[in-house]
Amino acid sequence: MNISEKSKKIIDSCRFCWMCRHVCPIGNATGLERNTARARALGASLVVRGATELNEIADNVYECMLCGACTNNCMTGWDPKVFIYELRREIVYAGCAPEYIKALISKRIESGNVFGLPVPEKLTKAAKKNGKTLFFAGATAVYKAPECVLDALGLIEKAGEKCAFDPLLNSGADLWFLTGKTKETFDAASRCAQALSGYDQVVVYDPKDLAFLLHECREWGVEIKTSLVSFNEYLNNLIDSGKIKVNKSEKEYALQDSYAYARDLGDCESGRKIIDKVGVRKEMLLIGKEADAAGELIMREYMPAVIDAAARNRWTSAKNMNCFTLVTESPDEYVTLLATKPENFEVFTLEKIILNNMGE
Ligand code: SF4
Ligand code: SF4
Repeated sequence: MNISEKSKKIIDSCRFCWMCRHVCPIGNATGLERNTARARALGASLVVRGATELNEIADNVYECMLCGACTNNCMTGWDPKVFIYELRREIVYAGCAPEYIKALISKRIESGNVFGLPVPEKLTKAAKKNGKTLFFAGATAVYKAPECVLDALGLIEKAGEKCAFDPLLNSGADLWFLTGKTKETFDAASRCAQALSGYDQVVVYDPKDLAFLLHECREWGVEIKTSLVSFNEYLNNLIDSGKIKVNKSEKEYALQDSYAYARDLGDCESGRKIIDKVGVRKEMLLIGKEADAAGELIMREYMPAVIDAAARNRWTSAKNMNCFTLVTESPDEYVTLLATKPENFEVFTLEKIILNNMGE
């Protein structure tokens, strides 16, 4: 197995403090000890030492959302995600990926997205070539949350902004999730970078895509010659510049922090600023960098019950703090929270609460 010294160090540094056992949304959803960074470190350590085979730990390596809650809380200061990504690459290269992962990779190769779906007709119709700014929706939103993409495009139009939109663009973050740093991921990222580089500015809707483009692509030397802006930042700018006029209502909203915004991009504020402009902000427990993830849609393809249980845990947390309306800042969590929403609760995207509170 070809894994880096850095990964070996992380695996060996685990002090078995069990902190990651309390914060892992998957472990909390399944109640299984194996669903923790600690258990994965142990499994990886056995493989490194030749005491077990890579295929023995393959399922468990894919039972991780890569949300980074363990990284945020690991007492060693190391990042367990580093070895999980490397293990995924090694598992795929060794040909011992679980069948459900092989199926997702095949769909990605054949159809351009891991869901194996065609672009929804309404988004094909919404495609626009002209504009110096590109609205980059990302594959998760295009195939799993097309209504959110239409809302976002509608809001941009109401602001009088001219944005190009190509629903076929895929950053490669999906391959990064499934296979880590492989040639296929690198090639997908390079193709996307080339397409993005034709624009002055790219507004990135999905924070997982933005984190991937800003961090992994740059680390690998994939050159992206454009200015990348998060959708939250773009929305705040549209409101602050007066292009979008909003009314502040008395409605209470609680933000479901996206782990990609909060932990990967270090932005726990932009979503809250939007809520403050259109309503009254409430807070749940486990917010900001401590946020408990409510879902991941690639993983929901092969562990739907577990992902939905994680989302339901988030609803329980909301209920305990009397938060009846959640606002999401990622398509993954919008879809999972909507699918598991208890009666009398609501979930909206940030763009939707702006649309619902627009002034003249
Ligand atoms: S990255 Fe998230 S899902 Fe994976 S082990 Fe850490 S806390 Fe659990
Ligand atoms: S938090 Fe870090 S040190 Fe503690 S058990 Fe988990 S991986 Fe090991």
